[in-house]
Amino acid sequence: MASLPYWFSSRRGLILAGGALGVVTLLGSLAFLGVYDPAPFLTLRTVTERGAVVIETRYNPVAFIVLGVLAAITFVCAVLLARFIRRFVPSGPRATADELASASATLGRELANALAVIRLDLANKETYARSLANAQGRLAGLTEADQVRVVVSLLVAENERMRLASEQDKHKLENSAREIDALQTSLRGAEEATLTDPLTGIGNRRLFNDAMKKAIQDSHAQRVPLSLIMCDIDHFKRVNDMFGHDVGDEIIRALARVIETSVRETDSVARYGGEEFAIILPGTELNRAKETADRIRRQFGAKQFAIRKTNQKIGQVTASFGVAEHRPGDDVQEFVRRADAKLYEAKARGRDRVADFSERR
Ligand code: GH3
Ligand code: MG
Ligand code: MG
Repeated sequence: MASLPYWFSSRRGLILAGGALGVVTLLGSLAFLGVYDPAPFLTLRTVTERGAVVIETRYNPVAFIVLGVLAAITFVCAVLLARFIRRFVPSGPRATADELASASATLGRELANALAVIRLDLANKETYARSLANAQGRLAGLTEADQVRVVVSLLVAENERMRLASEQDKHKLENSAREIDALQTSLRGAEEATLTDPLTGIGNRRLFNDAMKKAIQDSHAQRVPLSLIMCDIDHFKRVNDMFGHDVGDEIIRALARVIETSVRETDSVARYGGEEFAIILPGTELNRAKETADRIRRQFGAKQFAIRKTNQKIGQVTASFGVAEHRPGDDVQEFVRRADAKLYEAKARGRDRVADFSERR
């Protein structure tokens, strides 16, 4: 909103009206004391009463309005004259109105800058910004030191309130940051848990699907080979039936460890089903994958299992493997289907072997 000329601002307006009233009262008082003749403010009129003509005097309201306006103009001229004279009088210990106005303007500008910074950086400090904006507006019209001091002390109080609020906010933020950190860690743990097989500690079917999709994309983008090994323990039902489910679990864990220690960091291992595992080998051709599968087969098949508590001998357990290399256009399902087909081919051919697409039946 545009500011009004200074003598029309509310405080100036009051002084102006008070001054004009004072002048009118003074003139009235002087007329009453007979210091001068108030004839111009009176009006004569003739009134006929019972046939006789009476001349009556009445106050003339128009004359009083004109007098009031004249008084106001005189007062304004007096104020302007005083301001004009004050320019040539050296300022005393009190700051002049101009200096205060200039300081107020600078402070206002600084507050405006601070406001800009606060609005940019601290969106949540709207209350503070409103207080500063309010003070800035009030400072713009001030010329008296006392009034500026009041506004500045309000600002100081507001700053202190803000400082305390900021400290509280800082603590709250630190607490939230800690809580967010803890939450992130537990979320990470929860996410890992959803991708981990609880029996073996390796990836589960979900992790396999995610890793497989990514591996296919990377293989296509980087034009590098990609192979997949599917593996299943042979005659596992028999193991469970003969030695119990817990022993079966131990054997599943043992195969998981062998696979884990036989592959590279870049390969992904997952428990695909009950006693079935999948190994994704990025950047690996069929023959290399076949070698890896055969190494796992030999290592696992060489183990002599026994029941620790009773020392009962279980003997050797074997596994069969199907290997496939990714072909352009294979999606996850098709790629797994081809590797699985080779796994069942290995089963059909007598188990404890690796089957792949380089062989002819
Ligand atoms: P094949 O050589 O044809 O694979 O014969 P198999 O007996 O291994 O047949 P299949 O793979 O169909 O049987 C899997 C068995 O594995 C059936 C199920 O009872 C058992 N199994 C699945 N999950 C678990 C598990 O978490 N722990 C144990 N101990 N056994 C499991
Ligand atoms: Mg099996
Ligand atoms: Mg199976």
